[in-house]
Amino acid sequence: MTVTTQNISTTWSLAALRELHDSPLMDLVFRAATVHRQHHDPNEVQMSSLLSIKTGGCPEDCGYCPQAARYHTDIEENALMTVEQVTTAATRAKGLGSSRLCMGAAWRNVRDDGEFEQVLDLVRTVNGLDMEVCATLGMLTPNQAERLAAAGLYAYNHNLDSSEEYYKEVISTRGYEDRIETIGNARKAGLTVCSGGIIGMGESIDDRLKMLMTLSSFSPQPESVPINALVAVAGTPLEDQRPVPIFDMVRMIAVTRIMMPKTTVRLSAGRTSMSPEGQAMCFLAGAGSIFAGDKLLTTPNPEAFEDLEMFNNLGLKPATAYSKGTKPTIKQDPGGPEAKTRIKWSRPGHKIERNEEKRK
Ligand code: SF4
Repeated sequence: MTVTTQNISTTWSLAALRELHDSPLMDLVFRAATVHRQHHDPNEVQMSSLLSIKTGGCPEDCGYCPQAARYHTDIEENALMTVEQVTTAATRAKGLGSSRLCMGAAWRNVRDDGEFEQVLDLVRTVNGLDMEVCATLGMLTPNQAERLAAAGLYAYNHNLDSSEEYYKEVISTRGYEDRIETIGNARKAGLTVCSGGIIGMGESIDDRLKMLMTLSSFSPQPESVPINALVAVAGTPLEDQRPVPIFDMVRMIAVTRIMMPKTTVRLSAGRTSMSPEGQAMCFLAGAGSIFAGDKLLTTPNPEAFEDLEMFNNLGLKPATAYSKGTKPTIKQDPGGPEAKTRIKWSRPGHKIERNEEKRK
């Protein structure tokens, strides 16, 4: 099938997607760039910052993550950040061109306790700085999503990571359906959705495409889809994975762009091993955002001056906050949950051999 911007469909068979993914790279990038230009300013790229507001000690077993307590990594654990600490970090990030701050806490799920109240304060604070506020806190109940929305949260990040099948090879402590449920809870509360995945974990090309099929089947499609290249961290079960070739990344971004034309596709983790030329190709293929700052939660990221130099060389301009949406107003907190609204998240409990080995 020849794919043109006229016959781009929102529903794809795996075979058609595979044909698109495997098509000659120049054709694929040209098609993706054409779609990109119909819906986005091709010379505008959002700079976002990712801030780990609570680091390490996570009870989950995500095979790529140095923050899982069960693996032996060099992570320095940190308690939940204060309003002052986050204000300092957010102001600095804004000064360096970021218009969005994503706050990440290494939790399985949000608990209705004092730490959640503190997170709500952090959200109100960053909203007040006129940055897009995103949070990634683990699984979320409907009530927690409503409270975050009332505090002025703009987006909730909850990645699918991979296809439903391959997800079971990476994480055993929670189910794919839990992730879909959390995304639904965020959506129902009026939050925009940020959900994507990681390539380079040993999955097949079809796994990557199946993940995109799930994401693109959401109605509406996610406003934001981060595509990460695995950063293999020593001590994690995926430490020996080989780096993702740049053209795999370009193909993945191009296919994401074609499947979800209005979404902001984010070129996320793994940029330290990409040249500016490789990143330029990702922008051409439809990436509309990078994560700026010297760290991505806990893994290294290019220095700010390197990004500014790349922006200058490519003639890119950083996007302003809320250029694709409306700033949420802070509303009265609807308050905590009634017992009946509590969700019991699943614990699938199958074993993943390489995760078990790294635990020992
Ligand atoms: S990815 Fe998140 S949930 Fe998984 S181990 Fe790391 S911090 Fe925990």
